[in-house]
Amino acid sequence: MLTKVLIANRGEIALRIQRACRELGIKTVAVHSEADRNLKHVLLADESVCIGPAPSAESYLQIPNIISAAEVTDAVAIHPGYGFLSENADFAERVENSGFIFIGPKPETIRMMGDKITAIEAMKASGVPCVPGSDGPLDDDDERTLRLAREIGYPVIIKAAGGGGGRGMRVVHSEGSLLNSIALTKTEAKTAFGNSTVYMEKFLENPRHIEFQVLSDTHGNAIHLGERDCSMQRRHQKVIEEAPAPGISSKLREKMGERCAEACRRIGYRGAGTFEFLYENGEFFFIEMNTRVQVEHPVSELVTGVDIVKEQLRIAAGKKLSYKQKDIKVRGHAIECRINAEDPDTFMPSPGKILQLHFPGGPGVRVDTHLYDGYTVPPHYDSMIGKLITHGENRESAIARMRIALSEMIIEGIRTNIELHQRILRDRGFEEGGVNIHYLEKMLGL
Ligand code: ADP
Repeated sequence: MLTKVLIANRGEIALRIQRACRELGIKTVAVHSEADRNLKHVLLADESVCIGPAPSAESYLQIPNIISAAEVTDAVAIHPGYGFLSENADFAERVENSGFIFIGPKPETIRMMGDKITAIEAMKASGVPCVPGSDGPLDDDDERTLRLAREIGYPVIIKAAGGGGGRGMRVVHSEGSLLNSIALTKTEAKTAFGNSTVYMEKFLENPRHIEFQVLSDTHGNAIHLGERDCSMQRRHQKVIEEAPAPGISSKLREKMGERCAEACRRIGYRGAGTFEFLYENGEFFFIEMNTRVQVEHPVSELVTGVDIVKEQLRIAAGKKLSYKQKDIKVRGHAIECRINAEDPDTFMPSPGKILQLHFPGGPGVRVDTHLYDGYTVPPHYDSMIGKLITHGENRESAIARMRIALSEMIIEGIRTNIELHQRILRDRGFEEGGVNIHYLEKMLGL
């Protein structure tokens, strides 16, 4: 096994990774900014190194500082978590070139998946269904572009190849505005991502967001852990996730999951990953692959019993997957509510000191958080402060447990979105299941 892992992240995911390391007998190095000296995992780590001032750009995104911290502490591997440098191919490359193991895919895989056009090409070649579209970049032949859009059928969406975080996209409803919209998206993409390449896809009007979790080792083995439904979103940010996705048959799950696993085998994927799809009228359309552990990984863990982070560590150590596909059974249902330090009405971040804290418990309740009594949530980072996850024998039971858990949860001193979750958990549409990605914004009257 790995002897010592440096955790290049903060908050709940850093603690999650540290716990998995501890279970496997791996020592941990926490790196943190000046504002994060009191993070729970930093206080509990075997060693910790301050890597810079509070702003992420000067600490968690400082590649040389992180690599130096690994060098001085004799870490053998670096876990990037999610966000920050987790999908930065240059970081992965510099980690490997400095003699450390990057806990994630090969740099070239991250690079390929980071460009949406090369990602789609790779998926098509592996038999993963994609959104009908331009099959590559749009060129300067306006006649050809107009013809293509007519063939695809309006509305279409123009997307930047290098886009991310819900930016670099524009929906076009009719031919009159197509060329102008393409020109605008190109200019924006050039400024935002340094790459003006754009492509075109059919715009799906009322899709659900359904994604498949995969694990792939360095011995040619790849499995899937079924799917998650993450359609409950606000501004492209997931709010609630669940597994399995309501209404997806086990036959369809096996078929799509196997296609994702096969794609992993074909591209020599390494580690944990997620294939994101839009799902409309019974069909899946690939939109992108995330080459890291995801915030919502616990719902897949609860229904399959697989510890995804432990598998990441094992794969990085060169071991074979602990499971074969036939060992993976989806049992019951799991739901995750992302708890954010924010005003429940205005969604403005609400950092500050935690004055009173009480977590729920009981059967099928999991709390992934770095919060503790007296901890101060700093204003510099993402507002997610934890995740409340419940598991039950079926969806009704997972919902019932979530309602009870939310009612028991007390976080005083800052504002949180617990009330918003309570509202969603009481909503008829949510209760029925299978809502589309616009549902929450409509429900909130946005
Ligand atoms: P990003 O990398 O910026 O997150 P994605 O390609 O994952 O970009 O798309 C983000 C979101 O944009 C999707 O979750 C979906 O809501 C919307 N979207 C993207 N492509 C389409 C499409 N072809 N039709 C409808 N909505 C889309």
